[in-house]
Amino acid sequence: MKKYCFVIDVAKCENCNNCFLSCKDEHCGNDWPGYSQAQPLHGHRWMNILTRERGAFPFVDVAYLPKPCGHCDDAPCLRAAADGAVHKRADGIVLIDPVKAKGRKTLVGACPYGVIWWNETLQLPQKCTFCAHLLDGGWHQPRCVQSCPTGALSILHATDEELAGIVQAEGLEVLDSGSTATRPRCYYKNLYRFTGDCIVGSVAATVGDITECVIGANVSLHEGSKSLGERVTDEFGDFKFDRLPTGVADYELTIAHGDRQATRLKVSKKESLSLGTIWIEEL
Ligand code: SF4
Ligand code: SF4
Repeated sequence: MKKYCFVIDVAKCENCNNCFLSCKDEHCGNDWPGYSQAQPLHGHRWMNILTRERGAFPFVDVAYLPKPCGHCDDAPCLRAAADGAVHKRADGIVLIDPVKAKGRKTLVGACPYGVIWWNETLQLPQKCTFCAHLLDGGWHQPRCVQSCPTGALSILHATDEELAGIVQAEGLEVLDSGSTATRPRCYYKNLYRFTGDCIVGSVAATVGDITECVIGANVSLHEGSKSLGERVTDEFGDFKFDRLPTGVADYELTIAHGDRQATRLKVSKKESLSLGTIWIEEL
């Protein structure tokens, strides 16, 4: 049996909000009987787009994380609504029943990802439906995916075996749900852009009377005796170490270039860090 899932490439999202707006266009003022009641104009973000800024001027990296319902295979919202107010279809889509879920505000807190929204007017918990009404009508993708101009949003319609192969081959990840079991069907590519830390900087030197950025310097990063990688500075003397674990850590950064004596720096990070310009020995 083939089932649906989202595949979202964080590196391709440019925060244009087309997905958010097309979701509004599809669901605001529109009841889809058996699937959902109308989404309010304001307050709900069934396709939510989160922002994370890393580093500091002038080395700033901004990533956007589109976050719809993950249509979990082990959905806490479904467990919380034991009476069928939430149900999972055979094709993987999780729907909140707009009739049975009336008045069930507690369902909002049942989702560890915070993607269920409370409709005060209708007294109804609501969320992304994967545009199931459209798929059942012959569409091949939800409105958000259709409107994404960069290819950041896509869906798969695949068996569990096919999906497992794609997840493995493309290094797809899911969002951390804390200690709650979820098994979401929303997979991310390049999730490190949102969840990992980075260390960036630039290497410069004085050569005679001239100050120059140093191109082609070898920069290495170590945590104790463990190597975290090597970089070569680019045309602007810049380097970047990414996909670092979040949180506090102490590193040693070594910069080697030509005949110069290697420059070693102790680097302590609490979060992503911009080291600014690092001056190395003059020639
Ligand atoms: Fe339910 Fe939240 Fe999982 Fe969606 S992401 S299925 S709302 S637990
Ligand atoms: Fe990002 Fe695509 Fe949504 Fe635009 S439409 S915000 S690029 S996911």
